[in-house]
Amino acid sequence: MHIFQQYINGTFSDGTTQFESLDPATAAPWAKMAEAQVADVNDAVEAAHDAFFAPEWADMTATARGKLLFRLADLIAENAPRLAEIETRDTGKIIRETSAQIAYVAEYFRYFAGLADKIEGAHLPIDKPDMEVWLRREPVGVVAAVVPWNSQLFLSAVKIGPALAAGCTMVLKASEEAPAPMLEFAKIFDQAGFPKGVFNVITGGPAAGVALTSHSKVDHVAFTGGPDTARHIVRNSAENLASTSLELGGKSPFIVFDDADIESAVNAQVSGIFAATGQSCVAGSRLLVQASIKDEFLSRLKAKAEAVVIGAPDDMATEVGPLCTLRQREHALELIAKSVEAGAVLITGGEAMDREGFYFTPTILDCSEAHDAASLSNEFFGPVLSVVSFEDEAEAVRLANDTEFGLASGVFTQNLTRAHRMIRKIRAGIVWVNTYRAVSPIAPFGGHGLSGHGREGGLQAALDYTKIKTVWLRTSDDPIPDPFVMR
Ligand code: NAD
Repeated sequence: MHIFQQYINGTFSDGTTQFESLDPATAAPWAKMAEAQVADVNDAVEAAHDAFFAPEWADMTATARGKLLFRLADLIAENAPRLAEIETRDTGKIIRETSAQIAYVAEYFRYFAGLADKIEGAHLPIDKPDMEVWLRREPVGVVAAVVPWNSQLFLSAVKIGPALAAGCTMVLKASEEAPAPMLEFAKIFDQAGFPKGVFNVITGGPAAGVALTSHSKVDHVAFTGGPDTARHIVRNSAENLASTSLELGGKSPFIVFDDADIESAVNAQVSGIFAATGQSCVAGSRLLVQASIKDEFLSRLKAKAEAVVIGAPDDMATEVGPLCTLRQREHALELIAKSVEAGAVLITGGEAMDREGFYFTPTILDCSEAHDAASLSNEFFGPVLSVVSFEDEAEAVRLANDTEFGLASGVFTQNLTRAHRMIRKIRAGIVWVNTYRAVSPIAPFGGHGLSGHGREGGLQAALDYTKIKTVWLRTSDDPIPDPFVMR
């Protein structure tokens, strides 16, 4: 059994209690994790609070913070294969994906490292002759980060990078479902040379999450997870009136017009829904396909879905691995059963696989005659695609926006003017045209509606971890005149 420790104030410890984490490919426990109790949460927040005001961090130049982040990026790149192996083991995310993603995580840290000394304030052309007024962008303070289990290193990097670049300190609570990658990351972070307490990692379930996000010394809560949990998080943070950034779920439309390059669209849809075993917030989980090409498109898609290589996550040949938890699999079975009852037609898949681990077959459900099917409005977080056909552009827009979520969207068409109309009309944080699932540290990422608010990636991500201080400086040497005249 592997042992993973929590990281508080620069010190690793087992904590007073531990819990076991399951290997999703075998459903057997493989590692023991320290489980943060309320006292651990308090220690971690106090450490981050003290570090925020300590001169080692508070007086460090932004350039020096950037250099530390560059060092961290190098360490992540050097340790990427080990981090990938651990993330694969704990979450079931296939090694092909974790290897590529963690190599890219180093690039995210490099981007934010470079940004550290480019977070600028402003000078105001104020309407008073004897005043200089300028804005300082200052770090928001202690950040509580709460993350889910999928792509955890990646989802954490887009919080840690901008927060530390801006000069904040942080307590990150890893997901109780698969905390190993973040606890391993803490070991790497420890070597980068940051002052003690600037970054702390704990784990544990909702109790630790509540203690952290309602702590009176937390200034900002950065959360990625489901909308139901987000409502709790916002209530918790209200205790302290902390600001929040929320990256939540999605039910993203993948829209294919009859003039699209069909081969490209089919391939993009396959990776859009089956990559990460569908456990992706930006999964293109609603295929909206023009009625005139529906049969051809679905038959090509079905053939590709049935040819997907399902296997052990640590095998480089595997394209779809197990779901992370048994709960995910039960949720998928339940939603499919409800949808079929409502008139959806199962084109392929829909089954828990008869092998050890939490495997689930890639699934396509045609909901063209069942617009009320639960599968069209609920996030599966699994490899399940729901299909609806449309007649024209207006119907495509209406169906695309018929969701409470608004994270991502994809449009496949060769018609340039139509592409521009669709970009304007779709209500989502991301529109991919003739591509899907592309991400970059340079591009903001985030949603509308139940998909949350705030942006991760790009300059905006760093600004979300700052607040503005307005400075007024009187330049006149004359005595201040009548104190009761407003100036
Ligand atoms: P979840 O909402 O169940 O849990 C996320 C985290 O919140 C976990 O660390 C959990 O311990 C913690 N938590 C639970 N209850 C809490 C409470 N009351 N107070 C404080 N913390 C609490 O999410 P999950 O099932 O682990 O992950 C799947 C969800 O995450 C999906 O909805 C998915 O779309 C979303 N997600 C979004 C993005 C994005 O960037 N938009 C990325 C990945 C995942």
